[in-house]
Amino acid sequence: MIPVTKPYLPSREKLDAYIDSIYEHRWLTNNGPLLQQLTQRLQEYLGVENLLLVSNGTLALQVAYKALGISNTGCNETAEAITTPFTFVATASSLQWEGLKPVFADISVDSWCLDPANIEAAITEHTRAIVPVHVFGNACEVEAIDEIAQKHQLKVVYDASHAFAVNYKGSSLLNWGDAATLSFHATKLFHTIEGGAIVFKHKADLRRAQQMINFGLAGPEDIAGPGINAKMNEFQAAMGLCVLDEMVANLAARKAIVEQYQQQLPAEMQLQAINYAANANYAYMPVVLKNEAQVLVLLENLKQQGISARRYFYPSLNSTNYGNGQVMPVSEYIAQRIVCLPLYVGLSPINIEKICHIGKEIVLK
Ligand SMILES: *Cc1c(COP(=O)(O)O)cnc(C)c1O
Repeated sequence: MIPVTKPYLPSREKLDAYIDSIYEHRWLTNNGPLLQQLTQRLQEYLGVENLLLVSNGTLALQVAYKALGISNTGCNETAEAITTPFTFVATASSLQWEGLKPVFADISVDSWCLDPANIEAAITEHTRAIVPVHVFGNACEVEAIDEIAQKHQLKVVYDASHAFAVNYKGSSLLNWGDAATLSFHATKLFHTIEGGAIVFKHKADLRRAQQMINFGLAGPEDIAGPGINAKMNEFQAAMGLCVLDEMVANLAARKAIVEQYQQQLPAEMQLQAINYAANANYAYMPVVLKNEAQVLVLLENLKQQGISARRYFYPSLNSTNYGNGQVMPVSEYIAQRIVCLPLYVGLSPINIEKICHIGKEIVLK
C-alpha cells in the first residue's frame, strides 16, 4: 500500500535520549527546557523572531486573532475576515470559532492562492482582517496584500501551515503579515506529532499571546485576562528537535521526488505556478486534471494498484456551510479537478514512475 503521505519518524535512539532527559528533570510541560530549545532552534532555522510554540495549528490561528484584537468578543456586532475558499477547513472554522464571519475572495488560477485583485471588492465596514493561505507552501502575493491591508487599516494573519522553510526575496516568508501561523501536525513537512507556532511581527503581541496560551496568567497569582490552554508539551518538543535535525536531508529527498514527478507526469496535467520570488518547499504534489471525470478515474486506477491519492482541497469552502451562496469560479474549478499524489521521504523512484504511468494513460485517453 502506498499512502498519500507518511509521517516522518526520527531515529528511536535520538528520541530516547531526549525522553531520558524529560524523565530526569520531570518537567513535562509549561515552557520546559526542550520547548525553549526548540523555540530557539526554530527561530534560527527559519530566520524569524517572536515565535511562540502552541499545541496545534488551529489554536495558532485562534490565538493569533485573539492577540491581535481581531476576534469578535461582542455579542451583537458583525465582524468579518476575508479569506480563501481553497484551503483546509481549519482556516474557516478558526475564524468562525472566534466570532468572525469568513468572507471568501477567489483565488488565482495559476498560484491557487488568494488573488489580491479580488480582495478589495470583499471589504466592508465590518472587515477586520485578511487571512490568506500560502497554499501547498506557495507564497501569496504578499506585497500587494500588504498594500491593501495598509490602505484599509486591516490586520493580516497568514495561515502558513504549509509554508515551513519558505523564503521570499531572501528572508522568511513568515515575516509577512501581523502574524503567520504554522501547523506541526504529523502529516506536515516539519512536525511535533501535534503542534503549531505563531510568528508575530511585534514583540508586544507575542507577550500578550504568551499569557493567553497559559490561561491568561501573568504570574502565579496574577490573572491578566481571559485565556486558553494551548501550550506545547515536552514530548512534542522532543519530537520536533529530532525532526528538525533531519530537515535538510528530508527537503533534499522530497525535492528529488518532486523533480521526478515533474519530468514524468504528462504535460496535460497542470502544476502549481510557484511564486517567482520564493522557493518551493516540496510539501505536497498537487496536479490539476482536465475535468472531474478524469479525477475519479485516476483515483480508482491508483487504488486498484494499492496507491492512495487525495482530493485535496475539495470541496471549495464557499460551497459548504461556511459559504452563503457566494460563487467562486476559480476555486471551484481547481477544487473539482485537483488531486494530491503520494509524497513522502522513502517513496521509491519505481513507484513514482508507476504513478506517472497511470496518470499518462488517463489523460491521453
Ligand atoms: C493542517 C492545517 C491547519 C490546522 O493545523 P492543525 O495543526 O492540524 O490544527 C490549518 N490550516 C491549514 C491550511 C492546514 O493545512
